[in-house]
Amino acid sequence: MNKSYEYIIAGGGLAGLTLAVQLTLSQKLRNKSILILDKDSKSSNDRTWSFWSREKSFFDPIITHKWPRGIVKDDKQCLQLELDPYNYQTLHAKPFYAFCKEHLGKFNNIVWKQEKILSIDAHSGRVVTDTETYESQIVFDSTYSKDSFKIKPKTLLLWQHFKGEVIETEEAVFDPQTVTIMDFDTDQHGQTRFFYVLPFSERKALIEYTIFSKNILPEVEYDPYLQQYKKILGVKQHQVIDKEYNAIPMTDQVFPQRKGKVIFIGTKGGFIKASSGYGFTATQRKTAQIIKQLEKGSTVEHLKHRSEKRFRFYDAVLLHALDNPSIHSPDLFLALFSKIGAANLFSFLDEETHFLEDLQVILAVPNKYKLKFMKYLYLWRRVS
Ligand SMILES: Cc1cc2nc3c(=O)[nH]c(=O)nc-3n(C[C@H](O)[C@H](O)[C@H](O)COP(=O)(O)OP(=O)(O)OC[C@H]3O[C@@H](n4cnc5c(N)ncnc54)[C@H](O)[C@@H]3O)c2cc1C
Repeated sequence: MNKSYEYIIAGGGLAGLTLAVQLTLSQKLRNKSILILDKDSKSSNDRTWSFWSREKSFFDPIITHKWPRGIVKDDKQCLQLELDPYNYQTLHAKPFYAFCKEHLGKFNNIVWKQEKILSIDAHSGRVVTDTETYESQIVFDSTYSKDSFKIKPKTLLLWQHFKGEVIETEEAVFDPQTVTIMDFDTDQHGQTRFFYVLPFSERKALIEYTIFSKNILPEVEYDPYLQQYKKILGVKQHQVIDKEYNAIPMTDQVFPQRKGKVIFIGTKGGFIKASSGYGFTATQRKTAQIIKQLEKGSTVEHLKHRSEKRFRFYDAVLLHALDNPSIHSPDLFLALFSKIGAANLFSFLDEETHFLEDLQVILAVPNKYKLKFMKYLYLWRRVS
């Protein structure tokens, strides 16, 4: 007979582990029998999550750094932004996985197995791995992999692709209070391109070159940009102590939330913000929504986590604008940050704003682009 669990969490990355942790924090759900499956041991530092936050979180003990100030700039102007009441924060994946596993290990009702999932049957809730077969009334599927990621025809997919280096310098170069959110002082090539700097101390920082475009570049093509930027920052003698080369999908596709007994979560469930590529905060928010519904006794047919339609629409519009070579992204982002301020923009991107506040963001779009944006009104029907 197949081993049966009340919930199976397929994929123990950000979404899977966040959901599991939140289940344990719920008085009503903490005793459910849960199986977490991942093909990987989740013991390497395979990414760094950064995000803005103004709230206390379960993950506060493993936050590596917080920045109260930020910079958004291009070749003409530099916006020095006070992020208050937010901080920009960073969390490394390795301590995140270890912290979650240690916490989940305290619960006898939660089992973590390193097995590769071969198939998930939506009708029966049966999960077949390379080792065994399991069954559940609800399978939360977050088994995302970049190489097999596909979208429906007629939807737009831009990759946010980047190469970053964590460097240690001999001299003091960085301001550990100020994060460079976007430095557009680089040829845009009709795309969106910027540098991103997370200074952990005066001598240590992550420096990243990021592009939003349809195709991912071979790794070596980012190197000249990174070398040049290090010179601009005044970096001389230094050591590269870590590297990051990867890509995040940004798409206006409306992801299915559910199929039979399977609830799609994480990247597979559309948790990545289409207009920014950020997924950490949305994952916290959307898994919390799922928990609330489970606590109220919602059955699998009624579980919902999709963003409100107006936010899906704004995301689609911004994504199409970023894909339009006649819209110069630095002008757009600098106008948004300078006219409405970092805090309001963050709250808009976190989908916490009312329509009147959204209107301020819409009005902050530079006049020269307003007509171009109007042409994207047709996307309202596509995001249904
Ligand atoms: C390098 C990188 C940096 C990022 N940085 C940020 C950031 O700074 N801020 C931010 O907000 N977002 C960031 N993101 C976006 C997003 O937050 C992450 O991609 C996040 O990890 C997505 O969570 P997930 O659970 O969907 O996917 P993952 O965390 O990738 O988890 C999916 C899991 O499924 C497992 N899996 C896949 N197939 C199978 C299978 N067949 N059997 C068993 N297990 C399987 C994988 O091993 C993996 O553990 C970043 C993404 C990347 C790739």
